[in-house]
Order: sequence, then C-alpha cells, then structure tokens
Amino acid sequence: MNLPYIPIGEDYLIYSPLQGLAALVNGEAFHCLRKRGLSAGLKNRDGSLEQLHKRLKDPGEPEPSPRSGPFEPHFLGLITTRGCNMSCSYCDFHDPEKDPEIMGISIALQALGWMADQEVRRGTRFLNIHFFGGEPFLSIDWMKQVVEEAGGLARKRGLQVRFVACTNGVMNEEDALWVRDHFDSIVLSMDGPAEVQNKYRPLKGKGDSFSTLNRNAKIFGEGRLDFVIRICVLDQTLSRLEDTVQFFSREYGPSAIVLESLRDSDAVSKGSFGPPNPWEFARRFAHASIMAESLGVKLVHSTCRLDKTQSSFCPVANDGFIIDPQGRISSCYQLEGEWLRQGLSLYFGRISPQGKVHIDEEALARIRSLVVQNKPRCRSCFCKWHCAGGCHILHTPPGGSEEYSDLCHQTRSITVWKILHSLDLEVVAERFLEHPRVEGDGVLEFPEI
Ligand code: SF4
Ligand code: SF4
Repeated sequence: MNLPYIPIGEDYLIYSPLQGLAALVNGEAFHCLRKRGLSAGLKNRDGSLEQLHKRLKDPGEPEPSPRSGPFEPHFLGLITTRGCNMSCSYCDFHDPEKDPEIMGISIALQALGWMADQEVRRGTRFLNIHFFGGEPFLSIDWMKQVVEEAGGLARKRGLQVRFVACTNGVMNEEDALWVRDHFDSIVLSMDGPAEVQNKYRPLKGKGDSFSTLNRNAKIFGEGRLDFVIRICVLDQTLSRLEDTVQFFSREYGPSAIVLESLRDSDAVSKGSFGPPNPWEFARRFAHASIMAESLGVKLVHSTCRLDKTQSSFCPVANDGFIIDPQGRISSCYQLEGEWLRQGLSLYFGRISPQGKVHIDEEALARIRSLVVQNKPRCRSCFCKWHCAGGCHILHTPPGGSEEYSDLCHQTRSITVWKILHSLDLEVVAERFLEHPRVEGDGVLEFPEI
C-alpha cells in the first residue's frame, strides 16, 4: 500500500483518495507511522490515531484500471466544424483564412444511429450527444436539423436524449433562446467583463463580443439547462480573478465556473501576454472559490476535482467517440497537427459513406494505454488519481518531461488547499496559501498491507 504525504508546516497531510482518507497529523505521529509501518499500531490519548490506523488498513477502492474489452463509448461527440467566428488573441486552433468545413449531415445521422443502437444494446436510457468545434453553432441550421433528428431517433428507441455543447456564445438572440430550450448543458467560454473579453476574445475583425455574450449568458442562465462558464486566465487578467468570478456569478447565475490558465502555444509566444504564475493562480483560485461558494456557484479546476478518481483526465483512454467533419473517429477534439507534434495519432476508426462504423482495435488499445499508470511524471504525485496527468497532448504526452510543469505546481497547490478546506481546517488552509508551493512530499510504502 502507498500512502502519499505532504508536509504542511510542522505537520503532515496524508492523503489516500482511493480509501477516501485525508488527515493532518503532527510530526511525531507521522514519523512513528513512517518508522513502524502499519503493523505496530498507533495510539494517542484521544484515540484519534488508533482510528486513523484502522482506516489505513482498509483496502479502499481498487485503482481505476485501463479499459479493456469491446469499445464502449458513453457519449457521441460531433466536431461540427473547425471554423470559428471569433479571433481570440491566444488561440491557434484554426486558420481564420480557411473556409470552414461543416460536417455532412449524413455523417452525423449515421453516427447518431450507431450510438443509439449501442445504448439500446447496453440497456441504458440515455443518448448523450456533445458538440465541439471550432464553434459548433457556426452553422445553426445544421445544429437545429441534427438536434431534431436526434430527438426523433432517440424517441423511437425509447431513449432520453441529452445535448451538451462548448460554445463561444456568439449567436443572435433567437438562436440563444433556441439553445436555452433545447440543450441540457452549455459550457460558455468567456474571459471577463467588456474590457477583458473584447481585448482577448474579440469577434473576427476585432469586433465587440461582450455585448452579445452578456445578453446570451443571461439567456442561458435563466434556462433549465446546466450552465457553466469557462474562463481562460492570463497573467494579465489574474489580478481581476475574484472580481470576474463575482461578476459572472451575480450577473449570469451559472451552476459552475471553470478556471483554466492560459497554456503556452505559438499564438501565445507571439502575443504580449502569458500564462499566470501557478502559485498566485492557486491563491486567487482559493479565495475566489470561497466567495463563489457563498453565491451558490461552484468554482472548478478540472485537474483538481476531489470528487473524481480516474486513470485518464478526458475522453482519451475512456472510449470517447468523437467524429470529425471528415467522419474520422478519435477520442480527442484537438487538431491532428497537435497530436502529431507530440508523436501521437489518436484516430482509431472511421464512418464509411454507407454508415458503417469501423474500429481499428490495435489503435484503440494503444489509446487506452494512455493512462496515468503509464505517465512517469505522475508516479509519486498525490494528485494522480484526480488529475491523471491532465491533457495527454498538451501536458503529459508519451516521452514528455518528468519534471513538474507550472500546471503541475498549480494543480498540486490547489489540491492541497482543497483537501485542507474539505477537512474544515480553514486556518491551516489560509496559512498554506501564504506559501503555496508544495515541496518535500512523497509516498510511504507499506508492503505488509
Ligand atoms: S505530476 Fe502533474 S500531471 Fe501528473 S498527476 Fe501530478 S499534477 Fe497531474
Ligand atoms: S487529450 Fe487533451 S485536447 Fe484531447 S480531449 Fe484530452 S484534454 Fe482534450
């Protein structure tokens, strides 16, 4: 058994998510545990160490294992187009000069039919459809047709259909109302109030995007749908983080706000902005999180979710079934060029013009092996069952550095703060934030258990 620990001042945080266990122990108890292992027992006056000792012997959940057996997707992802109507200053996801290709309706319908049959065969009640881009609502008539067809197809098979989309929110009022009434979940990318949004996420041609998003975010926030806002945080916008979270929480009433820090890319290296300092980000995340909680909004950092244990962070290695505009099947919505840059190919099948889904089992097995157990950097990290190495392309590609990156530092600091916060150790948590760099952590190994 392996037990991760993190020094916190004079004390030690021990953390074993698979056992559902977190405890702050003093140095004496920790050194006794380290020296004598679990067989010798632990005792103190109030019996708390004995209790902890008992919990440590509980084997807990097994490690999340890599997938095997037949391909079993839990949602269908459609990359409707790679085109976009914005020109965000830090994005190099698409070529603005290129005419965007829209997925043929027949590909989408064939994929829908195949996925619906899978769900019937598995005896589930739901058909989950996720739309990705570029900007998936770029061709709104296409979306309306696919949503209508998917609804009919699901009804015929006795399934309940659920629609989810990630969007930049640029659409007219009528379309925003349609989205509000037909979608179950919307993730809106929006970076801040007008001066931030218009500077870093302008419309194509440098237009004001804020006024459109301000109206549409209010529309989404009023609906029955699960409305989530995703903020990309730059070094230049970090100081406004708490204000932005407060503004979004009050104005739009989302159920959650997801914070991501800007990642290095070609576009970023050409711009006059950069990723935020990881520890300052962690500190501000924690304070914004407490404030958002008081307003009924959950603040999320996707690699620091204590409520999830997993061996892969995303649809990759989790049998994600994502179709691109050409009918190729992968588990990742990134551009092929980014995969190739990291020496990865994530296609594992295609939909033929006759509607047959072909799966390349060998390629699927290769993709399923991209789990955290195979990422050397994560081996001894206490975050590994939550973060699972993050993005396979941009963060922990095979053969990548074994050093902690800035994103690792951010994840590790936020995770420690979240554990302390979840233990109601607010004074310790606040003190930790004064110097939130995590150092000296490790793993106790107890071979006898
Ligand atoms: S080493 Fe980095 S990528 Fe791996 S689990 Fe830890 S924080 Fe995540
Ligand atoms: S590999 Fe990275 S880009 Fe691809 S789906 Fe996973 S998190 Fe997203």
